[in-house]
Amino acid sequence: MAENSLPPHSRRMEAGHRLSVLVPRPFDGPLDYRSDRLLAPGTLVRVPLGRQELTGCVWDGEPAHLPVDFRPVSRGKTFAFAKLRPISAVLEHVPPLPDDLRQFIDWVAAYGLSAPGMVLAIALRVPAQAGSMKPLMGWMRKPGPLPDTLRLTPARRAVLEALEQGGPGTTAMLAAQSGASAAVIRGLANAGVLEECLMEVPSPAGQADPDHAPPTLSAEQAEAAEALVAGVEERTFNVTLLEGVTGSGKTEVYFEAVAACLRQGRQVLVLLPEIVLTAQWTDRFERRFGIRPAVWHSELGQKTRRETWCAIAEGRQQGVVGARSALFLPFARLGLVVVDEEHENTYKQEEGVLYHGRDMAIVRARLVQGAVILVSATPSMETLVNVQKGRFRHEVLEARHGTARMPEITLIDMKEHGPERGQFLSPLLCESIEERMKAGEQSMLFLNRRGYAPMTLCRACGHRLQCPHCSAWMVEHRRRRILACHHCEYTQPLVSACPSCGAQDSLVPIGPGVERIHEEAQARFPDARLLSMASDTLTSPTAMEEAVRKIASREVDLIIGTQVVAKGWHFPDLTLVGVVDADLGLGGGDLRAAERTMQLLHQVAGRAGRGTKPGQVMLQSYAGDHPVMKALLANDFISFMEQEAAQRRPGFWPPYGRLAAVIVSAPKERQAEELARLLAMHAPRGEGIQVLGPAPAPLALLRDRYRYRLLLRTRRDIALQPLLRRWLDGAPRKNDARIDVDVDPVSFM
Ligand code: ADP
Ligand code: ZN
Repeated sequence: MAENSLPPHSRRMEAGHRLSVLVPRPFDGPLDYRSDRLLAPGTLVRVPLGRQELTGCVWDGEPAHLPVDFRPVSRGKTFAFAKLRPISAVLEHVPPLPDDLRQFIDWVAAYGLSAPGMVLAIALRVPAQAGSMKPLMGWMRKPGPLPDTLRLTPARRAVLEALEQGGPGTTAMLAAQSGASAAVIRGLANAGVLEECLMEVPSPAGQADPDHAPPTLSAEQAEAAEALVAGVEERTFNVTLLEGVTGSGKTEVYFEAVAACLRQGRQVLVLLPEIVLTAQWTDRFERRFGIRPAVWHSELGQKTRRETWCAIAEGRQQGVVGARSALFLPFARLGLVVVDEEHENTYKQEEGVLYHGRDMAIVRARLVQGAVILVSATPSMETLVNVQKGRFRHEVLEARHGTARMPEITLIDMKEHGPERGQFLSPLLCESIEERMKAGEQSMLFLNRRGYAPMTLCRACGHRLQCPHCSAWMVEHRRRRILACHHCEYTQPLVSACPSCGAQDSLVPIGPGVERIHEEAQARFPDARLLSMASDTLTSPTAMEEAVRKIASREVDLIIGTQVVAKGWHFPDLTLVGVVDADLGLGGGDLRAAERTMQLLHQVAGRAGRGTKPGQVMLQSYAGDHPVMKALLANDFISFMEQEAAQRRPGFWPPYGRLAAVIVSAPKERQAEELARLLAMHAPRGEGIQVLGPAPAPLALLRDRYRYRLLLRTRRDIALQPLLRRWLDGAPRKNDARIDVDVDPVSFM
């Protein structure tokens, strides 16, 4: 693009080439550098930037693969060739970023209005440290005749023969094959007969075997599996929703599609909503395919990350399971992406570069003509609408596998059958837990709230302990003896006097967190063996593994946990699930509050009765008439989603329309409010376009910044990105105020 704009004589005068290089910094597009060699897009290079040196990637010219609507307006100024700085080095030993990954990076950036360099940064987390990557080097015969001056000793001849027969080898390999010493090999290299080359590292683990241990599928499972396999064998882009009740064998079924993809020699990526789930999942993969898959998430060590990254880039690693960031791995031959529990909110990246893992998985697969399988017992409204419109295929598993039946769900009306003051477990629920314990079965109490109490109140003056940096209550964590803000990192020690009126011992905890439920359960069931599972106490996959082992080996009678316990666990002896506060997610007026509560409660209910013994679920609720409770009791997910759809359709709420949140924040409330109002004045207008707000965000103060929100809502046929881009590009840049954009927002805080 830029080269053409230069007068022809300047090109002749200057040696070298103009290269577009994307660097992991928040610029609008790639920067231009000079290079002696013409390098292919995807090549990783070191480049100077200011006084720093960075790893960047040689980028393409125009992003021709992006829809016109999405393309950034300009890619920055073109500098005169003479002024360009030269690249510092080429990372010869690091595999280049493949075309489809670069296209994907452009896509994610354009869709979410993020800087492409910041998206690249996700993909470069490994190669950025590639300076320390030690490639395995070997020797090959230099092309051309042997130099006349070469003295051909028998030892040297043996080395040349070994090369002739076995191909390139490391010093150690050649020495072993020829019987010659390392010095002889070095001598040949010095004489100009050998040259160094990069050795292909043999696959450390061998290959996954698609036929290692296939299960015997039920008729229903086999039918679904066949359809999924067909989707993979088409070798074109297609998406299938695999919907099936909890315990219906969805994993076993999509494993058949995984097997089909492995047989084609292509790679499979399976996304899980939580990294703590990877341990149980990898075990299952290993039982089915005879080998452990590569695991990808933020908590891997440096060395493992590097090896995994390279193995995936070189196509040696076929099966990969990971968190959403695994979408940015440099797959050599990706053929299938599975998004397990596709309805989960955790797929949305909420910090830095915002993107939805499920939606971007579909984009990624389309770029490689691959298949996608979305898996859920309670699919998202977005996915259901795509099925209805015929964009996605649909396979359904109606029954639990084997003899297991769906659990019976009952509601405990807390208005009538609630516990005594200061307690949170109703007598009915406690009786049931006792019965299960007598029968030697396990129970689970679910409360989606970490800590001991969500709020602390002074009985003397009514003061509530609040985070000094956020508009949020401080949450008591009694075991760690701290008060913590759940929105920033702020913590403080527990206090005994009210910070407002100074009264001693007047502070009381209001409401329960899991720690408080644990305490109550301990008092109620002194002989029970309890286990707490909360996302802040079980942080690593290994800690989770240990907890899972304890449950499986029945060292636990009662599990108490936050949403981590709701996930895909399979505990055959767990027969009772008690939901401490079924109404918890319904407040807040968020677009998806009801849908999400329904999905979460259905999921946690699905932990009960997965083995041979029947399961029971008890919902403690003050809102028995709410559609969510009714749907859960009737096990009627479809009518519930239809009602939800009917509410969203007329106002063009997603998925019937498009939505983007614009969040304005500033250190002073007035700054934020003024800029938000200014934005509202210049908001895009037109038929099918609406801007709501500005209004103070529910989290009006976050990390010392005041926040205002606007919502841009359009009809489905109107693309948001060009509207947003025009609107925000024209916005005044005010000192400390910041504008953040969230396309397809999941959080409305
Ligand atoms: P889901 O993901 O739908 O909740 P899973 O795939 O976890 O269900 O299956 C539930 C349990 O039933 C697992 O222990 C699984 O191994 C077992 N299972 C499902 N289908 C079969 C089958 N065809 N043969 C043997 N075991 C099966
Ligand atoms: Zn805070």
